[in-house]
Amino acid sequence: MSLKIISPLDGWCAALDEVPDEVFSQRMLGDGLAIDPTGGVVVAPCDGEIITLPASGHAVSIRSAQGVDVLIHVGMDTVQLSGRGFAALVKPGDRVEAGAELIRFDLDILARSAKSLMTPVVVTSDGVTLQNRRGVGLVKAGEALFEIAMPASEARPAAAVAGNERQRVLSVPLRQGLHARPAALLARSAKTFKAEISLAAHGRTADARSVVAIMALGVRQGDELRIVARGEHAADAIGGMIAAIQEAERLEATHASAPPRPSPTPPRQSQAGGREIQAEDGELVGVCAVPGLAVGRATRIERREIAVIELGAGEGHELKELERARANVRLRLERVRDAGGAARREIIAAHVEFLDDPTLNAVAQELITAGKSAAFSWREATRRSIAALDALDDPRLRERADDLLDVEAHVLLALAGEARPMHFPLPENAVLLAEDLLPSELTALDHRRLAAIALSGGGATSHVAILAASMEIPMLIGVGPALRAIPDGQLIVVDADRGALQATPDTPTLTRAKIAVEERLSQRAALRLAAAKQCRSLDGTRVEVFANAGSVSDANAAVANGAEGCGLLRTEFLFLDREVPPSEDEQLEAYQSIATALGGRPLILRMMDVGGDKPLRYLPLPPEANPALGLRGVRTVLLHPDLMRAQLRAALRVRPAGAVRLLIPMVTDASEIRAVRSVVDDLSAELRLTDRIAIGAMIETPAAALTAPALTAEVDFLSIGSNDLTQYTLAMDRGHPELARRTDALHPAVLKLIAAAAAAANSAGKLVAVCGGVAGDGTAVPLLLGLGIGELSVVPALIPALKHQIGGLRVERCRELAQRCLSLASAAEVRELVERSLSGLGEMS
Ligand code: PEP
Ligand code: MG
Repeated sequence: MSLKIISPLDGWCAALDEVPDEVFSQRMLGDGLAIDPTGGVVVAPCDGEIITLPASGHAVSIRSAQGVDVLIHVGMDTVQLSGRGFAALVKPGDRVEAGAELIRFDLDILARSAKSLMTPVVVTSDGVTLQNRRGVGLVKAGEALFEIAMPASEARPAAAVAGNERQRVLSVPLRQGLHARPAALLARSAKTFKAEISLAAHGRTADARSVVAIMALGVRQGDELRIVARGEHAADAIGGMIAAIQEAERLEATHASAPPRPSPTPPRQSQAGGREIQAEDGELVGVCAVPGLAVGRATRIERREIAVIELGAGEGHELKELERARANVRLRLERVRDAGGAARREIIAAHVEFLDDPTLNAVAQELITAGKSAAFSWREATRRSIAALDALDDPRLRERADDLLDVEAHVLLALAGEARPMHFPLPENAVLLAEDLLPSELTALDHRRLAAIALSGGGATSHVAILAASMEIPMLIGVGPALRAIPDGQLIVVDADRGALQATPDTPTLTRAKIAVEERLSQRAALRLAAAKQCRSLDGTRVEVFANAGSVSDANAAVANGAEGCGLLRTEFLFLDREVPPSEDEQLEAYQSIATALGGRPLILRMMDVGGDKPLRYLPLPPEANPALGLRGVRTVLLHPDLMRAQLRAALRVRPAGAVRLLIPMVTDASEIRAVRSVVDDLSAELRLTDRIAIGAMIETPAAALTAPALTAEVDFLSIGSNDLTQYTLAMDRGHPELARRTDALHPAVLKLIAAAAAAANSAGKLVAVCGGVAGDGTAVPLLLGLGIGELSVVPALIPALKHQIGGLRVERCRELAQRCLSLASAAEVRELVERSLSGLGEMS
């Protein structure tokens, strides 16, 4: 028995191997062919029922009368277009005949925006084979593509559709196997589908929504993993799981390009610097988890056992108690989530995931139903998961047991009506000694008093090591039981760089170590101190150095690096993945937390800059022939008055009043500024504000730069967006890989426009800033100062170096150099001249 499949498209027929996406080229979704389309219509490849056709319209699957599913996926990464360029002509549930039109799409939009146009036509059902495949070459819609052969005895292919069940078996490509991060990605993705998804390996099965259960499968690279999905969205769910594994692979590749971490298995001999060290007298060796050197007093924190009563007071009561405790803990964790950097946020996200883990909760519920108390049940459920992880011969997974213990302690304390202390007192210069350390124990310590950490156990990749690294605290792990013999209060030296600890240092050793620590500290302090100071050039010109930000952690990093304010808050980044627009209150909360992190420093809040290279899911824009020249920035904002008002009201409500200044993106003429100004005035009256909020215009188009005198009259300041100004001046797409080297803001044409804008602002006595990438370019900095720029806004990490550079420049010399550059013919000539002149820019004229 066979089923004929016709080509759904006009185009060039090719093998699936040609598709630049492993999901298809490795046939993870099934076998088939690919078509490189030359037309914009997708027709039904056979008679059948439409099973899925997402709102984005980029893919469709159809089920034949025999129960065989065929998926057509138009182009690669086209889901990101959020429907732009696609029009669906049918909907799920419709019955169609072979050749009926299903989707129309704009070939030009796809050609410009998609990673590839290659369109796989894939049979996603199991138990079938493909025959009579069409060869490579031109094909027209409706012509035969291949035939699907099915077992003669069955109307439906084996294991393909059983109560809407789908299965896929794959070999796990991840080097680290299914450890915590991929498990979390899979669980998060699984929760988004209306399907029951399970993962099976090594004879064990896990609920795909449970991180704990996935980790306990103990899947390593190359292991076979079976994904089974049942329910309405079973086919999509399989695709979602595969996409999650791919995402984990991408993340793994990103992490692999970061500096290597030390071995996760603490050996008895240190491997610091790749060589084993011989223990000197009184020296204990371990593994460096965070490099550094410290001298301090041995300190231990007490970990209290939390008493638990086994017997419950009735199922209903205990279930409610557990629910209440989990809700409390979740609230507390979420409240502290944004207080630290990215590392803390990631760890707290993992803890919340454990708190809501379906497997943990199911075990706890079962025990409560059997008459146990909520505390006993939660502890038992956690301990069973830990035992399952411990049983696996994988140190990475065993390290996650710490996170589970942490969550366990939070919940048990919440059940006892207490909160887990967020602060443990520490003496000055403490070297914390412990068997192991939980992430929340570390975050509860005053890390300014913490000189170093030494653990007898521990793992170099554990969350606590990641946290210590983000706090820059030297950390040694795997020191072994000898650590217990060090008395509290003993002065010790931790040389994490060498992977060693001096437990009984003599006076000369202590003195040498103290001098070395002092030197390192004073170097670091000098950098920080310099960065914290107001920035002036060598000849005394004041230059404000601000930071660009897109989140609270950026704002924290900005302050830590000495930023004097935020020169560009890209507000569109705060709500990128939303399906619906953020409410005024949600926006207020986000802006307020950033303003609070800035501690009263100015916050330049740019109005939503959507369109062009920044599509927003909740604001689909109509297809445009040339989006970079279409609805972008303030043009889009003015077309959506409700969204604009919500954003502006939120911005106006941020406290302290006066900290926020508004910035209008992609201005081309004064009418746009006036339109925004009039809404701001109305809203200010509505909110009874007495002070007028400062408004600035971005100079991102040649039109704005050339009419800067007129624009300046309408605003309080200008901010030059050199990224866009360069692309529009040089007519080179800022994201074009082939043109990347030539899209250079130091082209004299761009410099002339910057000079024009700066001159207009300076002669009106108003501030002119640069917030585009050129502000952080060391070669450009002297020119920008020379052209009269008064504020530079850059990514936080660049601030100390930028301030240091400005401190060594004489603006007078920079001015002369900038004038000479304006008459050159190319960016290359400008760079060459500046680089030749750099050494003389600090000298007196
Ligand atoms: C710019 O164009 O230089 C700018 C700062 O804005 P964005 O990079 O967000 O477009
Ligand atoms: Mg821009």
